[in-house]
Amino acid sequence: MSEDQHVDLVVIGLGPGGEHLATEAARAGMSVVGVDERLVGGECPYYGCIPSKMMIRAANSLAEAHRVGALAGSATTAPDFSVVAARIRDEATDDWDDTVAVKRLEDAGVTFVRGHARLAGPGVVEVGGTRYVASTGVVLNTGTAPAAPPVDGLADTPFWTNREALRATEAPNSLVVMGGGAIGAELAQAFSRFGTRVSVVEAAPRILALEEPEASDVVARAFAADGIQVLAGAKVASVAHADGRFTLTVAPDGSDDLTLDADRLLVAAGRRPNLADLGLETVGLDPTARSVDTDERMRAGEKLWAVGDIVGKGAFTHMSMYQAGIALRDLTGTDGPWASYHAVPRVTYTDPEVGAVGMTEQQARDAGVDVRTGTTALQESTRGWIHGAGGEGVVKVVEDRAAGHLVGATSAGPTGGEVLSMLATAVHAKVPTAVLREQVLAYPTFHRAVSSALAALDD
Ligand SMILES: Cc1cc2nc3c(=O)[nH]c(=O)nc-3n(C[C@H](O)[C@H](O)[C@H](O)COP(=O)(O)OP(=O)(O)OC[C@H]3O[C@@H](n4cnc5c(N)ncnc54)[C@H](O)[C@@H]3O)c2cc1C
Repeated sequence: MSEDQHVDLVVIGLGPGGEHLATEAARAGMSVVGVDERLVGGECPYYGCIPSKMMIRAANSLAEAHRVGALAGSATTAPDFSVVAARIRDEATDDWDDTVAVKRLEDAGVTFVRGHARLAGPGVVEVGGTRYVASTGVVLNTGTAPAAPPVDGLADTPFWTNREALRATEAPNSLVVMGGGAIGAELAQAFSRFGTRVSVVEAAPRILALEEPEASDVVARAFAADGIQVLAGAKVASVAHADGRFTLTVAPDGSDDLTLDADRLLVAAGRRPNLADLGLETVGLDPTARSVDTDERMRAGEKLWAVGDIVGKGAFTHMSMYQAGIALRDLTGTDGPWASYHAVPRVTYTDPEVGAVGMTEQQARDAGVDVRTGTTALQESTRGWIHGAGGEGVVKVVEDRAAGHLVGATSAGPTGGEVLSMLATAVHAKVPTAVLREQVLAYPTFHRAVSSALAALDD
């Protein structure tokens, strides 16, 4: 081990939050070491949000062209996946090269180290043969990696995770997606729109099982219209791979096993936190835990902060950035506000998009809230009706009747993620329902469906 390097701060893992925090801490005058064993920026720019949304944008342009028939005559398309694959390679990820991100970090004054970092006690980090002793402390932002469930035969097959799917250079002829959560659903629909025959196998009784059932229904109908086979309430019992093809035995609840075969298998059945080989035991934390507990300032222990997916408060880039901002305020001795999670927004970028904030109806009931809900179909709004093909959706609001404000809301539709922001403001600021009902919303926007959902709050 070489001589100790003394610094103010070490950031382990440079996902969106870690990169932001390291940059801003260095700009604030701290001596900062940032460590990443893979790519600076983390999952989001290289294998997550950005390339997936680029693929979805391309796929949705094809779907929109198919709607011309119902709206404006005819249009023919000749899908070419190589166009979006090139865009992902060249524009989004620089061919999965982080030279630009590293330079940006170093220009801000951060010392960047590529390697696997481990804690070696409070404020002490080892990378390779070097020990860094941080006088202020260490921030963990190690994120998550795709997890493969313990399915018979799966580990021996060349299955895709999000990382391989987003590096694909062509759309496969056929694809089975294991997991109908946000990641599985988004990629299933994107490939399907490029002509891939897609089946989704989801163990829960419905796809997007964490969202409102009404939103799952809207997306399930869109998937049916796209020709995507959805097997919900079904478990993959075994997987085999031979002669370039996958064969899966699927066990649907209450009916006989069936066999699926496809050119590719995408496993999107959960993520595992990168905590196992981090030396957490050297700071009194459990390396087998699913997440790192933090207080409202993102402190996880002596000279230790944690931000991002590993905190377990929502695996989203905006959450990682939000928590990084809070930890930075604490590190630099600035006042709060500190972390609050009552209005976390999330969007599943299927078509229709599903935007949601705060609690679902079931979560609110489970939390003991005296709930009132209001729901409206988007097609019943003027704008949804005008939109015609592709205008399906739903807005649902969940009110705490006693408090008189919303505690959760969902907006699914062509712009579901955008309409979400007014609902997120309402939940965040606890705007009284009576005040929301007085608001004048422009005609004929999709937002006006929110007024209808508010009017539909049952008594
Ligand atoms: C397909 C897909 C689509 C997504 N789409 C969206 C979306 O639309 N919107 C959204 O908000 N979120 C989306 N997400 C989630 C989003 O990517 C993550 O929430 C986001 O990247 C934040 O993660 P993070 O900051 O915790 O760290 P990560 O981005 O996971 O980065 C962690 C970094 O830590 C490094 N690391 C780990 N352990 C060590 C170690 N011991 N030493 C050194 N380095 C280490 C890793 O190499 C990695 O670079 C998507 C994810 C996927 C997979």
